[in-house]
Amino acid sequence: MGSAALAEAAKSIRDWSIGASRPSAPPANAADAFGSLVFSDKLQQERLPKPVYRALRATITRGEPLEPAPADAVAAALKDWAVGHGATHFTHWFQPMTGITAEKHDSFLVPTADGTALAEFRGKELIKGEPDASSFPSGGMRSTFEARGYTAWDPTSPPWLHVNGNSATLVIPTAFVSWTGEALDKKTPLLRSMEAVSKQAVRVLTLFGSTAERVFATCGPEQEYFLIDRNFYFARPDLINAGRTLFGAKPPKGQEMEDQYFGSIPERVLACMAEVELELFKVGVPVKTRHNEVAPSQYEIAPVFENANVAVDHQMMTMETLKRVAPKYGLACLLHEKPFAGVNGSGKHNNWSLSDEFGNNLLGPGETPHDNMQFLVFCAAVIRAVDTWQGLLRAAVAGAGNDHRLGANEAPPAILSIFLGDMLTDIFEQIEKGSATSTKQGGTLDVGVSVLPKLSRDAGDRNRTSPFAFTGNKFEFRAVSSGQNISFPNTALNAAMAHALDAIATELEEATAAGEELHTAVGALLTTIIRKHKRIVFNGNNYAPQWEKEAARRKLLNLKNTVDALPQLVTKEVVRLFERYTILNERELRARYEVFLEHYNKTINVEANLMVLMANRYILPAALAYQKEIGQSVAAVRAGGGTTVQGKKLLARYTKLVDQFKAQTDALEARLEHNGGSPERHAKYMRDTIIPAMNRLRELGDRIEVLSPHELWPLPTYREMLFIK
Ligand code: ADP
Ligand code: MG
Repeated sequence: MGSAALAEAAKSIRDWSIGASRPSAPPANAADAFGSLVFSDKLQQERLPKPVYRALRATITRGEPLEPAPADAVAAALKDWAVGHGATHFTHWFQPMTGITAEKHDSFLVPTADGTALAEFRGKELIKGEPDASSFPSGGMRSTFEARGYTAWDPTSPPWLHVNGNSATLVIPTAFVSWTGEALDKKTPLLRSMEAVSKQAVRVLTLFGSTAERVFATCGPEQEYFLIDRNFYFARPDLINAGRTLFGAKPPKGQEMEDQYFGSIPERVLACMAEVELELFKVGVPVKTRHNEVAPSQYEIAPVFENANVAVDHQMMTMETLKRVAPKYGLACLLHEKPFAGVNGSGKHNNWSLSDEFGNNLLGPGETPHDNMQFLVFCAAVIRAVDTWQGLLRAAVAGAGNDHRLGANEAPPAILSIFLGDMLTDIFEQIEKGSATSTKQGGTLDVGVSVLPKLSRDAGDRNRTSPFAFTGNKFEFRAVSSGQNISFPNTALNAAMAHALDAIATELEEATAAGEELHTAVGALLTTIIRKHKRIVFNGNNYAPQWEKEAARRKLLNLKNTVDALPQLVTKEVVRLFERYTILNERELRARYEVFLEHYNKTINVEANLMVLMANRYILPAALAYQKEIGQSVAAVRAGGGTTVQGKKLLARYTKLVDQFKAQTDALEARLEHNGGSPERHAKYMRDTIIPAMNRLRELGDRIEVLSPHELWPLPTYREMLFIK
């Protein structure tokens, strides 16, 4: 029971500390390891004939289709390299709408007529795969007659080898589409959104005299997660099946001492992190930082930023590697947004920016007035994009897990706003006042920003509560949830930005075509944008209740939960936005909406059923056993001629609690019988009827827990799970 798990955990920690369970391999040289399992650009150059390499580069950098002949050559080189590393299988790796990744392994080996086997891999196998995909969610998009989907290699993300004990598999990152060409995954719309934002950003850059032909969305996601002893994890059905604890009283010591944040990392955890990092290094994920987070047993891992499409693949690989390596160290990794009530949850800070093909960061303040003008235009585009598309961005991070963070008692809130920091705010305030006609002065913008001082990332004003913060040379979308695939939030961001940049480019093109000086036109444009969209800028404390009032006054959206947020995905405006930039057509977008809604309903349903199960099979038997013990003790006192006022009181109090608990368990179970009708109505039912019933049940369960004896309690407690490591 609880104590058994405790004993196992203690043993596991002891084994670790005396070295019995420590891996003996010497630490590998990280620099040598980096990318050693990736079919990188360098390898491609070495192993491919020049014309083939050039054809592949054209595909990668300009999106040109790869002809069958060079594709065969690429496939052959890939296979030789993979087989040389012991690979026997290859897989098309893709990101269906479930939010996790999927793969189907095929052998390279093809039996031959003479009874031997030949390693074979052709261009068409590299480029196209056909998983039997009828049971992946499609949001009703595929009717049965067209149930097949296929995976198509995404050459912008290099293949890698997944080595696991005695097997090695060549992993080919792919997009997953239906035979009618509709996107069934999360990768395809992301790639399309990157095209869209690139096109519009290039138009703006061209006005500033740049020769860039491509712009890339860049992304550096910081992943928060918990690591707890695996014995505790196994003893909690809720952690196993729901990823979070559904019962559990607050420990006497939580995070109030704040002695965890950036504190020293426990040795076993550090060893686990080191292996995660090494594994990720090998497959080319540039992980860089690690540290303790705010809550006990909470940590963070962050990579160096990359182009968003690669960053998304690498982020999925990071989550998978964390999950896979933790057990080797006797740990379990929890990626849920809120594994423990009452302590901080986990998020994913999605650092995002735009960069041209020469590597110039478009959201970094420049050295010259001209550069700064361009920088301010891109910043203004972000302000316009986030304000205009608040609803979409909010919906892009909605989910049952994130409802415990956004809009609950945790940062960031459900209201989207932008933190600009003092310096940028000051600049935009000046721009707001400056009228368009007086912007010319010595060829610079008359807004007091002839040259912006370098904005320091660490300027003491970093705000941890903002959902969307400027951090010196990039924006950080912090409302993204820890367990989610970051594809869709980035797709939404790119779509919103494409729209803002499109409008900006059009306005500036028209003004300059009419003979206006660029800086005059920019001055006018910036003034208009900031006047119109400044309501989205908020530098204060996003936790404060006053902010909610202030945001309401500013008419900002405040969508507190998934059920309120998701419809924002399919508003007329959003449909038009996605269609206009050919990111998703209406059917594809609706499909996502349906999948997200269904996922919400299923999640709550699983959680509620688990609560009923845990109540009946774990908590009640323990509670009734203790109730009997108290009863027997009171009876014994009475039989001896004594009276026990407190004993009787305890018996009455405990019995009443247990009664209420059982009644509430049955009530929740009865409510689950209900069939909610349409998915929308069902989601409302889940939110308004099931979740409150779950909360009441939990409250009663947690009250029973703190009155019950340790050795009878069947579940590891918060104190054990969070502090024994
Ligand atoms: P903090 O924890 O203080 O927010 P970190 O240094 O841990 O900061 O993480 C910052 C993240 O932002 C890193 O992943 C980094 O690579 C990323 N980043 C930096 N510059 C850019 C950029 N131009 N585009 C996208 N991400 C960026
Ligand atoms: Mg951070």
